[in-house]
Amino acid sequence: MQEQNKQMEKIISLCKQRGFIYPGSEIYGGLQNSWDYGPLGVELKNNIKNLWWQRFVSSRDDIVGIDAALIMNPKVWEASGHISEFNDPLVECKKCHERFRADHLEKNKCLNCGGEITESKQFNMMFRTYLGPVDDGENQVYLRPETAQAIFVDFKNVLQTSRQTLPFGIAQMGKAFRNEITPGNFIFRTREFEQMEIEYFIKEEDWEKHFDKWAKEMHEWIQSVGIDKKKIHELDVPKDELAHYSKKTIDFEFDFPFGRDELYGLAYRTDFDLKNHEKNSGENTKYRDQESGEEFWPHVIEPSLGVDRTVLAVLCSAYHEEDDRVVLKLKPEIAPYKAAVFPLMRNKPELVELAQKIYKDLREKFVIAWDDRGNIGKRYYSQDQIGTPFCITIDFDSLDDDTVTVRDRDSMKQERISIAELEAYLRDKSQYLSTSIYVQTN
Ligand code: ATP
Repeated sequence: MQEQNKQMEKIISLCKQRGFIYPGSEIYGGLQNSWDYGPLGVELKNNIKNLWWQRFVSSRDDIVGIDAALIMNPKVWEASGHISEFNDPLVECKKCHERFRADHLEKNKCLNCGGEITESKQFNMMFRTYLGPVDDGENQVYLRPETAQAIFVDFKNVLQTSRQTLPFGIAQMGKAFRNEITPGNFIFRTREFEQMEIEYFIKEEDWEKHFDKWAKEMHEWIQSVGIDKKKIHELDVPKDELAHYSKKTIDFEFDFPFGRDELYGLAYRTDFDLKNHEKNSGENTKYRDQESGEEFWPHVIEPSLGVDRTVLAVLCSAYHEEDDRVVLKLKPEIAPYKAAVFPLMRNKPELVELAQKIYKDLREKFVIAWDDRGNIGKRYYSQDQIGTPFCITIDFDSLDDDTVTVRDRDSMKQERISIAELEAYLRDKSQYLSTSIYVQTN
């Protein structure tokens, strides 16, 4: 375990040093496990989100997206059961007063000092705030604890405007907030995080078929984003631990350096949400079958993914220490930079001029790094550390024969490629997604 914690420390330190992820509000001493994504982190995160959107929304006929407001009418959370049910069991150490989630303690003892702990009490995890200038109970609202609910609330509008027929899905990604009792383990558990969720609407009798299909889709996603599949385990959540809305849930767990824990969830939510929204809003939330004219509430399969836990699992899977280098073996599709461009020497204007031209041309199509510091070895070292899949060096031969050296991050092999073919080469090797794909940054 000590060895594994060391690996976690190394990843956190690399993230900070190279601009992936920094402690939030650091100059003020931080803020209880909040984290900011830096220049490389935001590229990596957006690439992951783009890949997900492309895979599950843009390239499919049966799933459409929404982007709803983060603050919703509080009646939404009454209907969904979050106000009455979204609780964690809170305990406190009688000696040092540290607070814990009761279900995170193996023995009934304080993790900090071994002291005796109090009886547990239910603690609601939703963040409260006020709408407008008067902060009384009337204006109290909540920051959304999940992206899923807006999908149910907007169900009827989407149905009317997108002409989908069952089975079909609605997807949303964006921020969610939970006042976690014990945030921790870097970006694994934070109070502000991002989710990518799909509610897939089906006929009740088909739920097992679709559940199995989605379990398969999740495994395929895990592989496509570069998470080590040997470290993935399915956990069939025991009946007495299921969320209030679920009849069956599988947790997809990952062997993080700090231990095995939940990466994603796949839940059969029945018709719980749509039914309750009709009951609470008085609006008809049913689906009408085009052929039979029958009206009913569709049932729902929900693949729920955390963006930040994906980033962490991707980083843990990609991090490798080799003889004389640290290398992030990120899938080229999600690497922050697709390539780096180097002039062999920075004091030869003709090399710099050609290298700059290549850099600027490629930069119109891809996110590309420029490096002219130190020697080539140091530049490779630096790019390997941040997972850049290809390094392109412009040397004296390039001036005569219009070719450059392309060095592959993983095999470290080099090949000569003609300048005219570079764009196609990178596009092909990195299966680069078109830049027109939706990027959401909230
Ligand atoms: P946990 O048991 O770890 O608290 P959960 O079962 O409450 O998680 P869900 O409600 O199923 O989580 O949320 C779906 C996904 O959102 C999770 O699988 C995870 O990827 C992500 N997620 C949930 N809570 C957090 C958090 N506090 N920080 C980061 N990601 C989170």
